[in-house]
Amino acid sequence: MAQKIAAASARVGRMGGRPGGLPVRTAFHLWASLALPYIHGASALLSDKQIEILQKKVHRAVHSIIGKRADPAAVLCDLGLPDAKIIRDIRLASLFVRLQTLPEYLAPAALHRFLHVKATPDVKSIEGRMMLLLGRLGCGHLWQGINPPALTLAPGPTAARAQDRDPIGHRRSGLDKGIKRAAWNHHRRLLLEQEGDDSFLASYVGMFKQDLLRPRLDRCAAYLLSDITPSQQACLLLFRTGGSLLAHHTPDTYANFEDNRCHGCRTRHPSSQDVCENIPHALLVCVKEPYASLRTAFMRDMEETCASFRPRDDKGTLVKWSTLEPDLQSTIALGGMIPRDWQLAFYRPDRMQAGRDALRAELTAIAAPFLQAIARGLRTYKKAVLRSLAARDKDFVAVWELWGDLGQSFEEPSAGMTDRGQETGDEE
Ligand SMILES: [Zn+2]
Repeated sequence: MAQKIAAASARVGRMGGRPGGLPVRTAFHLWASLALPYIHGASALLSDKQIEILQKKVHRAVHSIIGKRADPAAVLCDLGLPDAKIIRDIRLASLFVRLQTLPEYLAPAALHRFLHVKATPDVKSIEGRMMLLLGRLGCGHLWQGINPPALTLAPGPTAARAQDRDPIGHRRSGLDKGIKRAAWNHHRRLLLEQEGDDSFLASYVGMFKQDLLRPRLDRCAAYLLSDITPSQQACLLLFRTGGSLLAHHTPDTYANFEDNRCHGCRTRHPSSQDVCENIPHALLVCVKEPYASLRTAFMRDMEETCASFRPRDDKGTLVKWSTLEPDLQSTIALGGMIPRDWQLAFYRPDRMQAGRDALRAELTAIAAPFLQAIARGLRTYKKAVLRSLAARDKDFVAVWELWGDLGQSFEEPSAGMTDRGQETGDEE
């Protein structure tokens, strides 16, 4: 099965499913339809250890499509795709329903009914594992609440309603839906528990918690349905999941809090509170071009659009884009949900969520091209750093090349640059 997942991922790669190839949603849906059916087919009977191996294969496949830096769990979550563990949970719990709703005269059904009536099944048996799983998913009531099996598959003479014509099918589809919902909600709870942890996934969860709370976690996050270009979608996905070139995403960023800003920012903002080159830094402070010259336009456009909806927070105060917390500005710029306590003028209370979705869609569309400019600047900068490494004096050469790339902004520092930084630049 692991080999088949790898082979399917390689096929997607050949069809253009890699960074810079097919639109990212197309590539992943192609991959999901080629690779995941193998897991659907047999995962119910696999051990935890085997599922762990498959989970690693799934994550490696995600890396092969979107690049090694992105966090696979975050990528799958944004796209609304299941991983090996969710699929196993759904299949194992559904298998239980299948066995319990077989007609009485079939031997396996009789056998399982016999096992079922034992008060506490042996936890090592498959019935025991199913009972524990259903409990873990919050569906423990299904274990006891199952109806007696129908005596025959043939429709009765007076069957009018769907559940009378096909009682087994009706019962199964109802339970399958409930199990699927429970498994996704269980996955959501596990993700939310990451918060407060020191990992990249935790910072993703912290930033995009509202997206994780969407009613259907098995559908993609709203920004992937926005009216933006496929390359802008890919850019947003990379920034949100750690696949961009931001230093913030490197694994050791959290372990040792060394200064991860670019050379330009370190020299020009010696007193800046930022240490990590993360999204708020890149969006609000960083001197890298071409975005640094566009920042004023970005802030103005976001301010105007936000104001046109006249949002008020839970205290009734008018919300202004420019006074929001840097983290919230970053989340919204990256297509995150608008906070649920914002009340918009011109929308009835029952249409408020639709209004917030409309505001989110407009803000995402405005921010997307600016985020592409940040990504371009990061690429240019990293190339400059790379070139400097060969010359053995990386700081000097990198700053030199960065400021060569900065061009105009070196003469006309944008808001936030201090005179002191400017002087330091002249000395260099
Ligand atoms: Zn910077």
